[in-house]
Amino acid sequence: MALPPSDADARRANAPVICYPNEGLPKPDLDLYRRARMNAQKTDEVLVPARDAKCFEVTAGHFFRITSVEGPQVGDLNLWNREDLSERFYSGKTRALHGTHLTTGERMWSSFPHMRPMATIIDDTLGWYGIDEYGGSVHDVIGTRCDPYTGNLLSGSQYHHCCHSNLTRALADHMGISLAEAEPAVHDVLNVFMCTGFTRDTGQYFMKASPVRPGDYLEFFAEIDLLGNLSACPGGDCSSEHSSDVAACYPLLVEVFAPDEDALAGWESPARNGYDRSHGR
Ligand SMILES: [Zn+2]
Repeated sequence: MALPPSDADARRANAPVICYPNEGLPKPDLDLYRRARMNAQKTDEVLVPARDAKCFEVTAGHFFRITSVEGPQVGDLNLWNREDLSERFYSGKTRALHGTHLTTGERMWSSFPHMRPMATIIDDTLGWYGIDEYGGSVHDVIGTRCDPYTGNLLSGSQYHHCCHSNLTRALADHMGISLAEAEPAVHDVLNVFMCTGFTRDTGQYFMKASPVRPGDYLEFFAEIDLLGNLSACPGGDCSSEHSSDVAACYPLLVEVFAPDEDALAGWESPARNGYDRSHGR
């Protein structure tokens, strides 16, 4: 290992600078969304079975809520533009803009070249959790999604109910396409209810028992027409392991709500990103 230079301490003492100060982001009008939500009527519900995934659709300007039912359970969420699956949730950019974990007022952003808010969190019953003594917090955008390839790499396993496979099957069924066509559209997730962080000493990704209890929910406002896909992770509450059938697992409930017709007067679905895409040519 290289020896530290004589000014190593001074170099380490440089103050951090926030990469993307997010004061400049367009602000969601949470008051308007919440007023519209008050009289919204339920139009659909989907019960996602344990160790499986289901798709659901939400029209722009409507709401969807993910609720823990029966027992503590973590969910892996994918979002696409319902009309164009090439526009999908961009976990890495969302992390860069909002930090490692999302809560009320923060947004799920879409991939390039669209890069606009897809959904805004309007309510989070686990918002009280904050950041615990291990650096853990809830609803992360740092994990990817549990998948059979990593399991195979680490232990030679062939496990078929990781979130990646669950999301692939659900998308194929919903779209009427093959697994091979569906799989490339599956992407890194919002880990709903999952409690995670990085160890301070080794910088490794960790998970711990989720604080979620039946009745807890995370609720979103759909900024564009959405196709959602939620997997009830085989990790259950992620207190021990995933990528197996060992953990206790429970279903997750998705409910969709439509506001009154004029409840969102003045609101417009966000336009695609304004960069001209000439890339210097
Ligand atoms: Zn999972």
